[in-house]
Amino acid sequence: MALHSCRTVGDECLEKWELVGSGGFGRVFKARHKDLRIDVAIKILHDGVSAMILRDEAKFMDLASCEFVVRLIGSYHGCQPGKRPCTQQGIVMEFMEGGSVQSLQKDLGGPPPWPLVLRLAHQVAQGMNFIHREKLMHQDLKPSNVLLNYHLNAKIADFGLTRVSASASKSNMETPGQIGGSYKYMPPEAFKSASYEPVRSFDVYSYGILLWSIVTGKEPYQTANYERVAWKIPAGDRPLCEKFEQKGEAGLDELVSLMNRCWDGSPDKRPTFLQCLDVTEKLLSMHRIRIHDAVGQVLKRRMSPTSGTSNTNRAFNVPLQTAEQFENDTLDHCRITEA
Ligand code: ATP
Repeated sequence: MALHSCRTVGDECLEKWELVGSGGFGRVFKARHKDLRIDVAIKILHDGVSAMILRDEAKFMDLASCEFVVRLIGSYHGCQPGKRPCTQQGIVMEFMEGGSVQSLQKDLGGPPPWPLVLRLAHQVAQGMNFIHREKLMHQDLKPSNVLLNYHLNAKIADFGLTRVSASASKSNMETPGQIGGSYKYMPPEAFKSASYEPVRSFDVYSYGILLWSIVTGKEPYQTANYERVAWKIPAGDRPLCEKFEQKGEAGLDELVSLMNRCWDGSPDKRPTFLQCLDVTEKLLSMHRIRIHDAVGQVLKRRMSPTSGTSNTNRAFNVPLQTAEQFENDTLDHCRITEA
Protein backbone atom coordinates (compact mmCIF):
# COMPACT_ATOMS: atom_id res chain seq x y z
CA MET A 1 0.00 0.00 0.00
CA ALA A 2 1.41 3.40 -0.93
CA LEU A 3 0.47 5.25 2.24
CA HIS A 4 1.99 8.31 3.89
CA SER A 5 2.29 6.83 7.34
CA CYS A 6 1.46 3.16 7.00
CA ARG A 7 3.64 0.46 8.50
CA THR A 8 3.04 -3.24 8.37
CA VAL A 9 2.13 -4.68 11.75
CA GLY A 10 2.72 -8.42 12.12
CA ASP A 11 1.77 -11.04 14.71
CA GLU A 12 5.06 -10.54 16.54
CA CYS A 13 3.82 -7.05 17.61
CA LEU A 14 0.34 -8.10 18.72
CA GLU A 15 -1.06 -10.02 21.69
CA LYS A 16 -4.31 -10.50 23.65
CA TRP A 17 -6.66 -10.57 20.67
CA GLU A 18 -10.35 -10.09 21.47
CA LEU A 19 -13.32 -9.69 19.16
CA VAL A 20 -15.02 -6.28 19.44
CA GLY A 21 -17.69 -6.49 16.78
CA SER A 22 -18.63 -7.29 13.25
CA GLY A 23 -19.85 -5.04 10.43
CA GLY A 24 -20.92 -5.39 6.82
CA PHE A 25 -17.39 -5.79 5.49
CA GLY A 26 -15.36 -7.29 8.30
CA ARG A 27 -14.70 -8.05 11.93
CA VAL A 28 -12.94 -5.71 14.33
CA PHE A 29 -10.60 -7.05 17.01
CA LYS A 30 -8.87 -5.38 19.91
CA ALA A 31 -5.23 -6.35 20.54
CA ARG A 32 -2.28 -5.07 22.52
CA HIS A 33 0.56 -3.60 20.46
CA LYS A 34 3.60 -4.87 22.35
CA ASP A 35 6.10 -2.31 21.04
CA LEU A 36 3.87 0.74 21.27
CA ARG A 37 2.26 -0.41 24.56
CA ILE A 38 -1.18 0.68 23.39
CA ASP A 39 -4.39 -1.11 22.53
CA VAL A 40 -5.16 -1.14 18.81
CA ALA A 41 -8.19 -2.09 16.72
CA ILE A 42 -7.65 -4.45 13.79
CA LYS A 43 -10.22 -4.73 11.03
CA ILE A 44 -10.11 -7.99 9.07
CA LEU A 45 -12.39 -8.54 6.09
CA HIS A 46 -15.03 -11.25 6.00
CA ASP A 47 -14.08 -14.12 3.72
CA GLY A 48 -14.90 -13.33 0.11
CA VAL A 49 -14.84 -9.53 0.48
CA SER A 50 -12.40 -7.92 -1.94
CA ALA A 51 -9.06 -6.84 -0.41
CA MET A 52 -9.41 -3.69 -2.54
CA ILE A 53 -11.98 -2.38 -0.04
CA LEU A 54 -9.44 -2.64 2.75
CA ARG A 55 -6.70 -1.04 0.68
CA ASP A 56 -8.98 1.87 -0.23
CA GLU A 57 -10.17 2.25 3.36
CA ALA A 58 -6.56 2.50 4.59
CA LYS A 59 -5.68 4.94 1.80
CA PHE A 60 -8.62 7.24 2.57
CA MET A 61 -8.08 7.06 6.34
CA ASP A 62 -4.50 8.06 5.78
CA LEU A 63 -5.44 10.98 3.52
CA ALA A 64 -8.09 12.15 5.99
CA SER A 65 -5.80 11.88 8.98
CA CYS A 66 -6.62 14.60 11.56
CA GLU A 67 -7.66 14.95 15.18
CA PHE A 68 -11.27 14.12 14.37
CA VAL A 69 -10.68 10.99 12.28
CA VAL A 70 -9.71 7.60 13.74
CA ARG A 71 -5.95 7.26 13.28
CA LEU A 72 -4.50 4.63 10.99
CA ILE A 73 -1.52 2.88 12.57
CA GLY A 74 -0.62 0.45 9.84
CA SER A 75 -1.63 -2.51 7.74
CA TYR A 76 -1.90 -5.97 9.29
CA HIS A 77 -0.46 -9.02 7.66
CA GLY A 78 -0.47 -12.20 9.69
CA CYS A 79 -2.32 -15.20 11.06
CA GLN A 80 -4.98 -13.80 13.37
CA PRO A 81 -5.58 -16.28 16.22
CA GLY A 82 -8.18 -18.89 15.38
CA LYS A 83 -7.47 -18.54 11.67
CA ARG A 84 -4.06 -20.23 11.57
CA PRO A 85 -2.45 -21.15 9.30
CA CYS A 86 -4.07 -18.89 6.73
CA THR A 87 -2.68 -15.41 6.24
CA GLN A 88 -5.02 -12.48 6.81
CA GLN A 89 -4.89 -8.87 5.66
CA GLY A 90 -6.22 -6.06 7.79
CA ILE A 91 -5.86 -2.49 8.90
CA VAL A 92 -4.61 -1.42 12.32
CA MET A 93 -6.17 1.66 13.90
CA GLU A 94 -6.16 3.45 17.22
CA PHE A 95 -8.54 1.70 19.60
CA MET A 96 -11.52 3.85 20.60
CA GLU A 97 -12.41 2.90 24.16
CA GLY A 98 -15.64 4.88 24.38
CA GLY A 99 -17.51 2.84 21.74
CA SER A 100 -19.60 4.73 19.22
CA VAL A 101 -22.36 7.34 19.34
CA GLN A 102 -24.73 4.44 18.69
CA SER A 103 -23.52 2.43 21.69
CA LEU A 104 -23.58 5.60 23.83
CA GLN A 105 -27.24 6.10 22.92
CA LYS A 106 -28.04 2.52 23.85
CA ASP A 107 -26.22 2.78 27.17
CA LEU A 108 -27.87 6.06 28.15
CA GLY A 109 -31.27 5.08 26.79
CA GLY A 110 -31.58 8.60 25.39
CA PRO A 111 -29.52 11.64 24.44
CA PRO A 112 -26.35 12.73 26.23
CA PRO A 113 -26.39 15.98 28.25
CA TRP A 114 -26.79 19.07 26.08
CA PRO A 115 -23.17 20.35 26.23
CA LEU A 116 -21.99 16.94 25.03
CA VAL A 117 -24.58 16.94 22.23
CA LEU A 118 -23.03 20.20 21.05
CA ARG A 119 -19.46 18.94 21.32
CA LEU A 120 -20.30 15.81 19.32
CA ALA A 121 -22.05 17.96 16.67
CA HIS A 122 -19.03 20.24 16.46
CA GLN A 123 -16.35 17.54 16.39
CA VAL A 124 -18.13 15.57 13.65
CA ALA A 125 -18.43 18.76 11.58
CA GLN A 126 -14.72 19.42 12.14
CA GLY A 127 -13.81 15.93 10.92
CA MET A 128 -16.13 16.16 7.92
CA ASN A 129 -14.86 19.62 7.00
CA PHE A 130 -11.34 18.22 6.94
CA ILE A 131 -12.40 15.21 4.85
CA HIS A 132 -14.11 17.47 2.30
CA ARG A 133 -11.12 19.82 2.16
CA GLU A 134 -9.04 16.80 1.19
CA LYS A 135 -11.49 16.33 -1.70
CA LEU A 136 -12.89 13.14 -0.21
CA MET A 137 -16.44 12.08 0.61
CA HIS A 138 -17.29 9.71 3.43
CA GLN A 139 -20.71 8.45 2.26
CA ASP A 140 -21.51 6.43 5.37
CA LEU A 141 -21.85 8.97 8.15
CA LYS A 142 -24.09 7.55 10.90
CA PRO A 143 -23.98 7.01 14.71
CA SER A 144 -22.13 3.67 14.52
CA ASN A 145 -19.37 5.31 12.46
CA VAL A 146 -18.70 8.09 14.93
CA LEU A 147 -16.39 6.53 17.51
CA LEU A 148 -15.52 7.93 20.94
CA ASN A 149 -12.35 7.93 22.95
CA TYR A 150 -12.32 7.49 26.71
CA HIS A 151 -13.21 11.16 27.26
CA LEU A 152 -16.04 10.92 24.71
CA ASN A 153 -14.31 12.99 22.05
CA ALA A 154 -15.65 12.03 18.63
CA LYS A 155 -13.66 10.71 15.68
CA ILE A 156 -15.01 9.60 12.33
CA ALA A 157 -14.41 5.98 11.31
CA ASP A 158 -15.23 3.49 8.60
CA PHE A 159 -13.88 4.74 5.30
CA GLY A 160 -14.97 1.61 3.43
CA LEU A 161 -17.31 3.59 1.17
CA THR A 162 -15.23 6.75 0.91
CA ARG A 163 -14.59 8.15 -2.55
CA VAL A 164 -12.59 10.95 -4.11
CA SER A 165 -15.07 13.76 -4.89
CA ALA A 166 -13.99 14.53 -8.41
CA SER A 167 -14.25 10.96 -9.62
CA ALA A 168 -17.18 9.87 -7.51
CA SER A 169 -18.24 6.44 -8.56
CA LYS A 170 -21.63 4.86 -8.02
CA SER A 171 -21.98 4.05 -4.35
CA ASN A 172 -22.58 0.45 -3.38
CA MET A 173 -24.85 1.83 -0.64
CA GLU A 174 -27.54 1.84 -3.26
CA THR A 175 -27.74 -1.93 -3.09
CA PRO A 176 -30.20 -2.57 -0.25
CA GLY A 177 -28.61 -5.85 0.82
CA GLN A 178 -25.25 -4.24 1.48
CA ILE A 179 -26.21 -1.10 3.31
CA GLY A 180 -27.28 -2.10 6.81
CA GLY A 181 -28.95 0.92 8.46
CA SER A 182 -27.13 3.37 6.21
CA TYR A 183 -30.12 3.99 3.92
CA LYS A 184 -31.71 6.14 6.64
CA TYR A 185 -28.82 8.57 6.20
CA MET A 186 -28.99 8.65 2.38
CA PRO A 187 -30.30 11.81 0.68
CA PRO A 188 -33.46 11.75 -1.45
CA GLU A 189 -31.55 12.19 -4.70
CA ALA A 190 -29.69 8.91 -4.07
CA PHE A 191 -32.99 6.98 -4.18
CA LYS A 192 -34.26 8.64 -7.32
CA SER A 193 -31.86 7.47 -9.98
CA ALA A 194 -29.81 4.32 -10.49
CA SER A 195 -27.13 6.46 -12.15
CA TYR A 196 -26.83 8.83 -9.18
CA GLU A 197 -23.25 10.00 -8.63
CA PRO A 198 -22.67 11.07 -5.01
CA VAL A 199 -21.29 14.55 -4.33
CA ARG A 200 -20.31 16.26 -1.08
CA SER A 201 -23.86 17.37 -0.25
CA PHE A 202 -24.58 13.63 0.30
CA ASP A 203 -22.49 13.78 3.48
CA VAL A 204 -24.15 17.03 4.58
CA TYR A 205 -27.57 15.38 4.36
CA SER A 206 -26.28 12.43 6.44
CA TYR A 207 -24.90 14.92 8.97
CA GLY A 208 -28.37 16.50 9.31
CA ILE A 209 -29.94 13.13 10.13
CA LEU A 210 -27.02 12.31 12.44
CA LEU A 211 -27.63 15.59 14.31
CA TRP A 212 -31.25 14.59 14.85
CA SER A 213 -30.13 11.21 16.14
CA ILE A 214 -27.59 12.80 18.53
CA VAL A 215 -30.15 15.31 19.88
CA THR A 216 -32.89 12.71 20.41
CA GLY A 217 -30.70 9.73 21.32
CA LYS A 218 -32.77 7.68 18.87
CA GLU A 219 -32.44 6.01 15.52
CA PRO A 220 -34.53 7.78 12.84
CA TYR A 221 -37.66 6.07 11.46
CA GLN A 222 -37.17 3.12 13.80
CA THR A 223 -39.55 0.67 12.20
CA ALA A 224 -39.14 1.69 8.55
CA ASN A 225 -37.53 -0.75 6.15
CA TYR A 226 -35.53 0.16 3.05
CA GLU A 227 -38.55 0.25 0.71
CA ARG A 228 -40.50 2.63 2.96
CA VAL A 229 -37.57 5.01 3.41
CA ALA A 230 -36.81 4.93 -0.33
CA TRP A 231 -40.43 5.94 -0.99
CA LYS A 232 -41.00 8.48 1.81
CA ILE A 233 -37.73 10.46 1.82
CA PRO A 234 -37.85 11.54 -1.85
CA ALA A 235 -41.49 12.52 -1.17
CA GLY A 236 -40.24 15.00 1.46
CA ASP A 237 -40.58 13.15 4.79
CA ARG A 238 -37.95 13.80 7.44
CA PRO A 239 -37.55 12.92 11.15
CA LEU A 240 -39.99 14.78 13.41
CA CYS A 241 -38.64 17.87 15.17
CA GLU A 242 -41.50 18.55 17.56
CA LYS A 243 -40.66 16.89 20.84
CA PHE A 244 -37.08 17.45 21.87
CA GLU A 245 -36.20 16.60 25.47
CA GLN A 246 -33.87 19.59 25.58
CA LYS A 247 -36.66 22.21 25.22
CA GLY A 248 -35.40 25.43 26.77
CA GLU A 249 -31.69 24.66 26.28
CA ALA A 250 -29.87 27.63 24.74
CA GLY A 251 -29.01 26.88 21.14
CA LEU A 252 -31.63 24.16 20.47
CA ASP A 253 -33.49 26.26 17.88
CA GLU A 254 -30.25 27.05 16.02
CA LEU A 255 -29.26 23.38 15.97
CA VAL A 256 -32.70 22.33 14.70
CA SER A 257 -32.50 25.01 12.02
CA LEU A 258 -29.07 23.65 11.02
CA MET A 259 -30.33 20.07 10.73
CA ASN A 260 -33.23 21.27 8.59
CA ARG A 261 -30.87 23.07 6.23
CA CYS A 262 -28.57 20.04 6.06
CA TRP A 263 -31.40 17.69 5.01
CA ASP A 264 -32.92 20.10 2.47
CA GLY A 265 -34.38 18.27 -0.52
CA SER A 266 -32.26 20.39 -2.88
CA PRO A 267 -28.59 19.42 -2.58
CA ASP A 268 -27.55 22.95 -3.65
CA LYS A 269 -29.32 24.52 -0.68
CA ARG A 270 -27.45 22.45 1.90
CA PRO A 271 -24.62 24.27 3.73
CA THR A 272 -20.98 23.29 3.46
CA PHE A 273 -19.33 21.82 6.55
CA LEU A 274 -17.47 25.10 6.96
CA GLN A 275 -20.83 26.85 7.26
CA CYS A 276 -22.02 24.17 9.70
CA LEU A 277 -18.93 24.88 11.80
CA ASP A 278 -19.92 28.56 12.12
CA VAL A 279 -23.06 27.38 13.92
CA THR A 280 -21.64 24.50 15.99
CA GLU A 281 -18.61 26.51 17.11
CA LYS A 282 -20.81 29.33 18.37
CA LEU A 283 -23.20 26.96 20.16
CA LEU A 284 -20.43 24.98 21.79
CA SER A 285 -18.73 28.14 23.01
CA MET A 286 -21.92 29.01 24.92
CA HIS A 287 -21.76 25.73 26.85
CA ARG A 288 -18.04 24.95 26.97
CA ILE A 289 -17.86 25.58 30.69
CA ARG A 290 -20.39 22.75 31.30
CA ILE A 291 -18.60 20.14 29.17
CA HIS A 292 -16.42 18.76 31.92
CA ASP A 293 -19.42 18.03 34.17
CA ALA A 294 -21.43 16.58 31.28
CA VAL A 295 -18.64 14.13 30.39
CA GLY A 296 -18.20 13.14 34.06
CA GLN A 297 -21.93 12.54 34.38
CA VAL A 298 -21.99 10.25 31.33
CA LEU A 299 -18.89 8.31 32.38
CA LYS A 300 -20.46 7.71 35.77
CA ARG A 301 -23.73 6.50 34.24
CA ARG A 302 -21.94 4.20 31.79
CA MET A 303 -19.92 2.66 34.58
CA SER A 304 -22.93 1.91 36.74
CA PRO A 305 -23.80 -1.82 36.79
CA THR A 306 -27.29 -1.18 35.39
CA SER A 307 -26.03 0.71 32.33
CA GLY A 308 -25.96 -0.86 28.90
CA THR A 309 -28.72 -2.47 26.96
CA SER A 310 -26.86 -3.23 23.73
CA ASN A 311 -25.57 -6.71 23.11
CA THR A 312 -22.67 -5.56 21.03
CA ASN A 313 -19.80 -3.32 21.81
CA ARG A 314 -21.43 -1.72 24.86
CA ALA A 315 -19.99 0.95 27.14
CA PHE A 316 -16.25 1.37 26.85
CA ASN A 317 -16.08 -1.05 23.98
CA VAL A 318 -15.94 -4.13 26.15
CA PRO A 319 -14.86 -6.86 23.76
CA LEU A 320 -17.44 -9.55 23.17
CA GLN A 321 -15.26 -12.65 23.07
CA THR A 322 -11.70 -13.74 22.72
CA ALA A 323 -10.73 -14.48 19.13
CA GLU A 324 -10.58 -18.22 19.86
CA GLN A 325 -14.07 -18.28 21.39
CA PHE A 326 -15.40 -16.52 18.34
CA GLU A 327 -13.87 -19.03 15.92
CA ASN A 328 -15.16 -21.95 18.03
CA ASP A 329 -18.68 -20.52 18.07
CA THR A 330 -18.59 -20.12 14.31
CA LEU A 331 -17.50 -23.74 13.86
CA ASP A 332 -20.16 -25.00 16.26
CA HIS A 333 -22.78 -23.09 14.33
CA CYS A 334 -21.54 -24.67 11.07
CA ARG A 335 -21.69 -28.14 12.59
CA ILE A 336 -25.28 -27.63 13.71
CA THR A 337 -26.26 -26.38 10.28
CA GLU A 338 -24.67 -29.35 8.56
CA ALA A 339 -26.25 -31.94 10.87
P1 ATP B 1 -21.34 -1.21 9.13
O1 ATP B 1 -20.88 -2.37 8.35
O2 ATP B 1 -22.78 -0.89 8.96
O3 ATP B 1 -20.48 0.01 8.95
P2 ATP B 1 -20.23 -1.21 11.78
O4 ATP B 1 -19.92 0.25 11.69
O5 ATP B 1 -20.76 -1.73 13.10
O6 ATP B 1 -21.26 -1.65 10.67
P3 ATP B 1 -17.39 -1.93 11.60
O7 ATP B 1 -16.89 -0.58 11.23
O8 ATP B 1 -16.78 -3.11 10.93
O9 ATP B 1 -18.94 -2.08 11.36
O10 ATP B 1 -17.21 -2.07 13.17
C1 ATP B 1 -17.52 -3.25 13.88
C2 ATP B 1 -17.49 -2.93 15.37
O11 ATP B 1 -16.17 -2.56 15.75
C3 ATP B 1 -18.39 -1.77 15.76
O12 ATP B 1 -19.01 -2.11 16.97
C4 ATP B 1 -17.43 -0.60 15.95
O13 ATP B 1 -17.89 0.30 16.95
C5 ATP B 1 -16.16 -1.30 16.40
N1 ATP B 1 -14.95 -0.56 15.96
C6 ATP B 1 -14.62 -0.25 14.69
N2 ATP B 1 -13.46 0.43 14.64
C7 ATP B 1 -13.05 0.55 15.94
C8 ATP B 1 -11.92 1.18 16.58
N3 ATP B 1 -10.99 1.82 15.88
N4 ATP B 1 -11.84 1.12 17.93
C9 ATP B 1 -12.79 0.48 18.64
N5 ATP B 1 -13.87 -0.12 18.10
C10 ATP B 1 -14.01 -0.09 16.77
